[in-house]
Amino acid sequence: MKYLSTRGHSPALSFSQVLLGGLAPDGGLYLPEKYPQFDAADLTAMRDMNYRDLAFTILSRLIAENDIPADDLRAIINKTYTADVYGFTRKGQSAEDITPTVKLADDLYLLSLSNGPTLAFKDMAMQLLGNLFEYVLDKTGETTNILGATSGDTGSAAEYAMRGKKAVRVFMLSPYEKMSRFQTAQMFSLQDENIYNIAVKGVFDDCQDMVKAVSNDAAFKAKYKIGAVNSINWGRIVAQVIYYFKGYFAVTQHNEQKVDFAVPSGNFGNVCAGHIARMMGLPIEKLVVATNENDVLDEFFKTGVYRPRGSANTYHTSSPSMDISKASNFERFIYDLLDQNGDKVRELWTSVDHGGAFDIQHLLKKVRDFGFVSGSSNHQARMQTIRATNAQYGVVIDTHTADGLKVALEHKEKGIPMVVLETALPAKFEDALVEALGDVPPRPESLKGIEALPQKFTVMEADAKNIKDFIQQALD
Ligand SMILES: *Cc1c(COP(=O)(O)O)cnc(C)c1O
Repeated sequence: MKYLSTRGHSPALSFSQVLLGGLAPDGGLYLPEKYPQFDAADLTAMRDMNYRDLAFTILSRLIAENDIPADDLRAIINKTYTADVYGFTRKGQSAEDITPTVKLADDLYLLSLSNGPTLAFKDMAMQLLGNLFEYVLDKTGETTNILGATSGDTGSAAEYAMRGKKAVRVFMLSPYEKMSRFQTAQMFSLQDENIYNIAVKGVFDDCQDMVKAVSNDAAFKAKYKIGAVNSINWGRIVAQVIYYFKGYFAVTQHNEQKVDFAVPSGNFGNVCAGHIARMMGLPIEKLVVATNENDVLDEFFKTGVYRPRGSANTYHTSSPSMDISKASNFERFIYDLLDQNGDKVRELWTSVDHGGAFDIQHLLKKVRDFGFVSGSSNHQARMQTIRATNAQYGVVIDTHTADGLKVALEHKEKGIPMVVLETALPAKFEDALVEALGDVPPRPESLKGIEALPQKFTVMEADAKNIKDFIQQALD
C-alpha cells in the first residue's frame, strides 16, 4: 500500500513516511493509491468486533506488512484503545465500547467520541498518532519536535497524546488569555518535560503565522527536526474512519441497512473520514455536513462554489472549534470527486492558494451521489437545541454537537438511522452551557478543580524569531 498526493506530482510513499510528514512536496495531501474494499462478507465478520479488532482489521488493510508488521500494529492499537484512556463515559455507557452510542429517539443517536483525556473527539485519532510516532521514531532512532498552533482542542489533544514520549517534544503556541479557563488549565497544568506551552500575545492567527514562518525556513526546519500533527495528517484521518464502522454496526442489525451520519465540521477532517469509510464500502446513505456561522462548507454543498474566507472574516462563535473558513482537508474529497485527477485539483487550488475561489456547480449532482448534504447553525439555534435535547431526552450536549444535531434533524428521513457525532463533552464549554441551561454541566470527577493546579507556560511576543530562539535554547 502506497500513498499518493492529491496534486499528482509527488513520489509514492509508505504509511510511515506520510505519517511524519505534512503536505506533499507538490503542496497536495496524501491519500492511499486505492481504498481497500470491505464487502458484505467482510462487514458481517466485522459486525461484532470490539473497537480494537475493528481498528486492526481496517488499519492492516492500509499499512503494508513490511512497513509496520501486523503484530506491532496490533500492539500499538491494543495500547491505544483502552477503557482507561476513553473512560469519561456518560451514565450508563461502557468505557469498553470506546465510542458508545446514546439513543435519543427511534432512529436518532449520538455517537460518543469525546470520552478521551481532553473531552473532545480529537483524542480518538491523536492518541493513536502518539503511539505510532513513538513506534516509528524508535525504529529509526530519530526524534521529532512538533510545532503547532491551537485555539484550544487540537493543542491539548496533541499534548495528552505525546506527553512523556522520549523521542518527541511538543512546542504548542496558543493565544495568551484567549482560550477558555478549562482549556488553558488542561494544557498549562501539564508538567511533563517534553511539553512546552507558549502563550503568544496575539490571536490564533498570529500563532499560526509563527508556525508557518518556521515551516518556511527549510534550514531551521531540517536542523531542529520540526514536525507537525495538524489536521491534514493522514494518520489522524485514517484513525477517524474506524468509528464510522463502529457507529454503523451499533445502530443496524444487518448490512442491507443504510445509515446517515451528521458531522459538526470545520477543517473537514472528521467528515472526510466518513467519506473514506463510505468509499471503502460502509453502507452510508448521507453525510450531513454541519457548520456554524462560518459556513464556507455549507455554501459549497448548496451551490458548488468553494470560497474560503480570510481570518478577518471568520466569526468567533460559541462553537469555537468550528471557527474555520478554509477547510484544509476538503481537497481530499475534491480529488475523489474529480476521479483522482491531480492536475485538475492543482488547477482548482491554484486559485484557492491565492485567496480565490472555484465554482464546480456542474458537479453538484455527483456531489449528492457521494452522499453529501449540508446545513448551518447559529448561536440561537445552538442554545435552543441544547435546551430541547435536555428537555426531551434528558441528555446534555455541547455546542458543537448541538450544531450537528440541529442540521441532522433538517435532513432526517423516516426509517433511516441518523447518527450525530458528539465532538466534545459539555464540560469543555461551560460558559455557553450555563447560558443555555442556567446550570454548570457535569464534569468528570478527576477534572474538578483543574483550574487551581500550578501552570507551566512561557509568554511571548508574536514574532517568529522568538519561537525560533526558544526552540534553539530548549534543544541546544
Ligand atoms: C476540531 C473540532 C471540530 C471540527 O472538526 P473538523 O475535523 O475540523 O471538521 C468540531 N467540534 C469539535 C469539538 C472540535 O474540537
